[in-house]
Amino acid sequence: MAPFGKSFTTRRHFLNRLGLFSLASSAPIGSLLSSTTTRAHASESAPSGAIQQFKNRAPLAPSAFYFLPQGSIRPTGWLKDQLRIQADGLSGHLDETWADAGPNSGWLGGTGESWERGPYFLDGLVPLAYLLDDPALKVKARRFIDWTLDHQAPDGMIGPASNDDWWPRIVMLKALTQYQEFTGDERVIPVMEKYLQFQLGELPKRPLRDWGKFRWQDELLCAIWLYNRTGSPYLLDLARLLRTQGYDWIAEYANFQYTQRITAEFLQLEAGNGLKDLALATHGVNNGQAVKTGPVWSLVSTSLTDRAAATRMVTELEKYHGLPNGMFSCDEHLAGLNPTQGSELCTVVEYMFSLEQALAITGDASFGDRLERLAFNALPGTFTDDMWAHQYNQEPNQIECSLHRSPWTTDGPESNLYGLEPNFGCCTANFHQGWPKFTASLFMLSAAQDNHEQDGLVAAAYAPCEVHTVLQDVAIHLVEETNYPFHGSVRLRVTPASPVRFPLQLRIPGWAAGTRISVNGRSIPELAPGTFASIDRVWQSDDRVEVTFPMKPRTSRWFHDSVAVERGPLVFSYGIGESWVKLRDRGMTADWQVFPTGQWNYALALNPDSSEKEIAVEEKEIGWMPFSRRSAPVSMRVRARKLDDWRAEDGAANPPPQSPAGSGLSEETVTLIPYAAAKLRITAFPLLKRDT
Ligand SMILES: [Zn+2]
Repeated sequence: MAPFGKSFTTRRHFLNRLGLFSLASSAPIGSLLSSTTTRAHASESAPSGAIQQFKNRAPLAPSAFYFLPQGSIRPTGWLKDQLRIQADGLSGHLDETWADAGPNSGWLGGTGESWERGPYFLDGLVPLAYLLDDPALKVKARRFIDWTLDHQAPDGMIGPASNDDWWPRIVMLKALTQYQEFTGDERVIPVMEKYLQFQLGELPKRPLRDWGKFRWQDELLCAIWLYNRTGSPYLLDLARLLRTQGYDWIAEYANFQYTQRITAEFLQLEAGNGLKDLALATHGVNNGQAVKTGPVWSLVSTSLTDRAAATRMVTELEKYHGLPNGMFSCDEHLAGLNPTQGSELCTVVEYMFSLEQALAITGDASFGDRLERLAFNALPGTFTDDMWAHQYNQEPNQIECSLHRSPWTTDGPESNLYGLEPNFGCCTANFHQGWPKFTASLFMLSAAQDNHEQDGLVAAAYAPCEVHTVLQDVAIHLVEETNYPFHGSVRLRVTPASPVRFPLQLRIPGWAAGTRISVNGRSIPELAPGTFASIDRVWQSDDRVEVTFPMKPRTSRWFHDSVAVERGPLVFSYGIGESWVKLRDRGMTADWQVFPTGQWNYALALNPDSSEKEIAVEEKEIGWMPFSRRSAPVSMRVRARKLDDWRAEDGAANPPPQSPAGSGLSEETVTLIPYAAAKLRITAFPLLKRDT
């Protein structure tokens, strides 16, 4: 029995709600029935949209918010375009052009790659296929899913028999949980139960090692997902064993030691120590995944200290390795504050996933700010516009993408090329989850804490979408229309099947002092940034909420007191002229170097305290490719001067000279565009001395 509000775990209760739906819902009935029909071989043409909601089952602690079931949130507007671009690019064709995700994959019963790459691909392909309701993509995803579900060993083991590492199976569990929610396939839960029970028996003999040891919290998430559905007590024993065998990230960050750029020499990589604890504890992707550890473990431990650990982790990463694109440096180990250091694409999407989990469990609005900063800057910034090529490492100050060993701490010379699998193919397999999981996190369920409250909806992050869900047994249809993050207006239309009271909570970003909110044209009192504004009322059909965020330019300070220009959740960069030179063809795609065609060594003539008056903003319509340089929906003009002594070495910009910096060169006006639109860019600028 769930201790915290209603969990709707009985079929009777659920069907009752469907009855209400069928009488009055504005949602397509197919999307409602889809969550109860047998899905093993169900029609792929029915739109998915499961509505069954699960909360944490005793003795787990409650979460502040819960993810809505997969399929409840549908992308619209520019977000749908972006997912379509992804599907038309590498995500929709990877299996056709890259053997490691192709027909000979071990996860399809073949003799090819049998480790993490098949599951990584699935972890993003499953939600992408179902969010777009794309039959061809569903077929591709189903091949891997069906093979995995239909080839469980008699003892419970899943996956290729040629590789018994626990780690890739953690990723496959994540893919399976999403697939089950989208489809209701009745095979999934028994397979997961049998596998996890088997693993509980095996782990004492064959414990977690290397990657699995450092990424155990992702399996814990899946074990909790299953426990909330089945209540099987052994899953709590498994949770504790994972914590015991897994790396203690909470302890690492309680006394954080890795405050410097971590070098290959420090790690003694030459001596073959790449999988030793020191290397794995300072590894970027591991740290990105680790950010969820405290909140997820707190569900089991019920400790508020554990729950707060994510805030501490994000704060420490920002303090010692923070970059203006929202990332921490990791190329591929933690790399310090210089904005020429890179961040690996795997870390971008894994950090996003961790922030989504941390936001849901803690209800801390600041995780939503950082999530948006990554989603709208670092994520699109590291792909070509058509998403046929990506980087391994991206840099905030990225003046050239070419074959150089510097400035990476431990990565190779192809790391910032745009291509199929620059440096190493993990990101090629893993990047697909970024946009789909962000989409699934836009709205969450807030759980009533006592009998006087109602469950409600939370706008956790903003992008165009629509939501079909159920609150207090009433079907709710919510439409969000917006060009956010490019423009500042968000319009919500709430249509319950019948009048119903619930709180609608709206995240007010930390940068958004002065946000205006109105309900059916009537303003509500201003609320503090960094919190959730709660509109608790009886909602009627076609109620309208308008949110206007203050989209004033502002600045933030970085390495050597450099300055970055921001507006809303977007970070802006000077877009250096680009010359794209093909290095080699790679099947259906290619690897590219990008060389600068102009100078980039600008310092900004700004007063950071009144930058709003000194920056001219221009908004335009959003094009088909929202993050493309060719149709950047917002740009800024700002005064600047070049700095003679700010140079490049080996294809990398030297650190920005200490601000304020003097320049005898003439003043120019330069145009800044969204970070993601500028594939060659300066983002952390020196600030000019005012009297030069
Ligand atoms: Zn990677």
